[in-house]
Amino acid sequence: MRAGLDVLDIIFARGEMADRTRAFDWSATSVGPITDWPLQLRTAVNLLLDSGFPMFIWWGKEKIQFYNDAYLKILGTDEKSKHPKALGQKGEECWQEIWPVISPLIEDVLKTGDAVFREDQFLPIYRKGVLDDVYWTFSYNPIRGEDGTPEGILVVCTETTKRNQQLKETEQQLPLLEKQKQLYDNITSGTPDLMYMFDLQYKFTYANRALLEMWGKSSEEAIGKGLRENGYEEWHAAMHEREIDQVVASKERVRGEVSFPHAVLGKRVYDYILAPVLDEVGEIVAVSGTTRDITEIRKAEAAIIESEARFRNMAEGSGILIALASETGEINYFNKAWSALTGIDTDELLGFGWCALVHPEDKDACLKLYMDSLEKRVPYTGEYRMLSKNGEYRWLLTSGSPRFEPDGSFTGYIGSSIDITERKQNEQRKNEFISMVSHELKTPLTSTISYVQVSQRKLSDNGDLTTAGMLDRAFRQLGKMKALINGFLNVSRLEAGKIYIDKKSVDLSALLKDVESNIVPEASTHTVVFAPVTETWVNIDRDKIEQVISNFISNAIKYSPPNTSIRIACESKNGFAYVSVKDDGIGINQEDQGKLFDRFYRVEGQDRKSISGFGIGLYICKEIIERHGGEIGVISVPGEGSLFWFTLPIER
Ligand code: ADP
Repeated sequence: MRAGLDVLDIIFARGEMADRTRAFDWSATSVGPITDWPLQLRTAVNLLLDSGFPMFIWWGKEKIQFYNDAYLKILGTDEKSKHPKALGQKGEECWQEIWPVISPLIEDVLKTGDAVFREDQFLPIYRKGVLDDVYWTFSYNPIRGEDGTPEGILVVCTETTKRNQQLKETEQQLPLLEKQKQLYDNITSGTPDLMYMFDLQYKFTYANRALLEMWGKSSEEAIGKGLRENGYEEWHAAMHEREIDQVVASKERVRGEVSFPHAVLGKRVYDYILAPVLDEVGEIVAVSGTTRDITEIRKAEAAIIESEARFRNMAEGSGILIALASETGEINYFNKAWSALTGIDTDELLGFGWCALVHPEDKDACLKLYMDSLEKRVPYTGEYRMLSKNGEYRWLLTSGSPRFEPDGSFTGYIGSSIDITERKQNEQRKNEFISMVSHELKTPLTSTISYVQVSQRKLSDNGDLTTAGMLDRAFRQLGKMKALINGFLNVSRLEAGKIYIDKKSVDLSALLKDVESNIVPEASTHTVVFAPVTETWVNIDRDKIEQVISNFISNAIKYSPPNTSIRIACESKNGFAYVSVKDDGIGINQEDQGKLFDRFYRVEGQDRKSISGFGIGLYICKEIIERHGGEIGVISVPGEGSLFWFTLPIER
């Protein structure tokens, strides 16, 4: 009991290692019983056991060991741990694996009395049964005896393995970080936009390739420098510094536009954004910036404004009626010529306001044409009458074209119109004249034809066959003349709207049979072949359609050499009857094909000089077919022949 009391009086500390130290049988070691310990050892052991920092002591020649709770943690408490064996153990036995390394240090301290300090020393030790890679930061401090010579060593140490591992990991991550940096560098150097970063002292901490090129500087020259040092003029640098202050104060982006000279490209306009860079707690640590060269955009905008102004000047000064429509068809611009024509302020005509002035008879057709074209976004041409300022209707010829942006998006229409009232009136007078002349010619011609016929019959009866033959020729020529005059009459009737279509249900195969029996005996110069036709019922004006087919056939005869053949066919296609007349004649050039159906259009050429005609037949054919809801056309190869065709809706 006495001895125990003594021990407690000597080792005061609390904790596991204090208890173990008190309980340990020190008399079995070279240190001897606690009660015999010299003051220096007692003091050192108490200091060690009271410390929260990992420490241990080697004492005496055998380096008998002491250690504290904090050091116990480093050793670990598993079954293979050096603890608790290490207490009172000889240093060399305990630390076999590192003794060759540490023993010289220990001896050195003991000999010289100089402490040793090592940082992050790699000393692998056995822990949990395996050799563990351990890093230590430690100092060996001499514990001096009464005479000042070192008798033991106080080791103050800490394990730095974790910190070293982190460093190692960071080192291992370096290539990854490097890779990422390269990736960002690639991104930022691939763009013509300028990208940069300022620290809070307005110094550049980053500048991408485009910016360095603009400055004409290398990264080393430019980074870490301020705006002025990188060549910014005072006003410009001060402006950006104010903006950086603003970003820092508000933590919000600042956007601006500035114009200044580029090292290579000269004066340019730039649009830029400065943005705050925040750390994880939301504090601003830098200001990043991107700048885009918008010189070309600004130039394009200026060019658009210029061209817009030019267009308005031209449109306003023009006598032609000009209008612009939006993509919905509403007119959003009329030039002055419109108010001059209508006597109404152009504002009132906007949108669909203009429709109120269109002649009631033309309104539906006019709007239909406009809206249909708008839907398909195709050009249109049409004629309609519009109320003018003096109360009379004026004929307008109008045409419009869809407008598209360069990217292909539809933006509306531009339309122009001209007043064709005079032209219309002239045409009408001409038509009336043609009609009158034709009428006047028709009466004497009809009586001449009947006189010729009667005389011809009489001469035949009297046996004067030669004179009768001559009169027969005169009769044929008169027939041609009659056909021409009838053609003119048809045109004038058509133009005056006096051709009436009188529709009835008709079988086309029967109609073609009739045409065949009329034509074949007449056409002695050519082989006319009618392909077999099945019953095909259509609702038509029989005479008019017969006229179209006859016209096709007589043209085929007219424009193809004798002894060639002409083939007539009628088929059903998609609910339409398709009638065609094919010849092996002279054919028609591509550029003429589209115009054949225009009034008075005749193809010119050496090969047809001797063939008479006025370019009326096909024009009338087209009008007739269109009034039946069909289509008309031609397929032709010059020198090989032509195929004229038309369609008619089949009756259901
Ligand atoms: P025309 O009275 O001049 O024959 P059309 O209106 O019937 O008038 O024909 C217009 C023009 O079309 C003609 O001048 C002719 O050059 C051309 N044409 C019509 N049919 C044929 C055809 N079958 N072969 C070649 N050219 C033709």
